[in-house]
Amino acid sequence: MRKVARTSLALVASVFAFAAVAQQRPDFGKVEIKTTRLADDFYVLEGQGGAISVLTGPEGVLLVDSQFAPLTDKVVEAIKRVSDKPIRFLVDTHVHGDHVGGNENFAKLGALVFARDQLRARLQNPNPAPDGTPGKPAAAQALPVVTYDNQVTIHLNGEHVRLIPIRNAHTDGDTLVYFPEHDILAVGDYFRSTGYPVVDLDNGGTLAGIIDGLGATIGRAGPNTKVVPGHGAIVDRNALIAQRDLIVAVRDKVAGLIDQGKTLEETIAAKPTAEFDSKAPNAEQTSERFVKWLYAEVKAAKTKTAAR
Ligand SMILES: [Zn+2]
Repeated sequence: MRKVARTSLALVASVFAFAAVAQQRPDFGKVEIKTTRLADDFYVLEGQGGAISVLTGPEGVLLVDSQFAPLTDKVVEAIKRVSDKPIRFLVDTHVHGDHVGGNENFAKLGALVFARDQLRARLQNPNPAPDGTPGKPAAAQALPVVTYDNQVTIHLNGEHVRLIPIRNAHTDGDTLVYFPEHDILAVGDYFRSTGYPVVDLDNGGTLAGIIDGLGATIGRAGPNTKVVPGHGAIVDRNALIAQRDLIVAVRDKVAGLIDQGKTLEETIAAKPTAEFDSKAPNAEQTSERFVKWLYAEVKAAKTKTAAR
């Protein structure tokens, strides 16, 4: 029984990996970088892929995430419009190419790259593609220079930027970047404000980790905190709470359907996300992927318990 559950989890995981690869081939020439000002010295850049947070000031620039490599010139142009200081630090929130793709370019520009130990290891030893093709290790200069498995603080421009590990959430190398003086949380992809939550099971993500990670993030957020997700609009604490509630509610529905003996297809057909589908952008389009993930994890957990 155990083996069956694990195989189906792996199958679902590779479906996700396929989807991720398909999403990662946009026409970069057409991408424009949109800059949103959150404070005189804090900006969010959106182009293609994950949002980039930018802390500026007299001591230099700190970035959270770097988008795809072909976009670096455009990103640098956008940064130059808000700061003439060097880009000194880059923090990777997680291993996906739309967040770390620019690492090598920014390292060559002089940025010191920070990330979790697990993220660095995955850049060095990426998973094979779904068709079995071996993963291509990242270039040496793309690798984070400073790695950590506990909280790290970078003191820059009067801010005390806290890099907080979020364990086994969207991946096993997630970091929450907290800017206490600005009351800003840059969270990467374990929370998004577009579509249903996404996990990367192949890279160590888990449902329990995402729920715990949202809890830890809610704990850091106050009534005026700005939350910068990896994807989607900048939101507040209420959106984090709503998402955690949503995940728990849909998970429980899926668990109930599994208890009734429903197959994956029957569970999807029962539309366990229905009450939430109209409440978020892209929700309906991402519902099936979300339900597949919940089904795989809940089923695997139940099988494991039964086998004990
Ligand atoms: Zn991601």
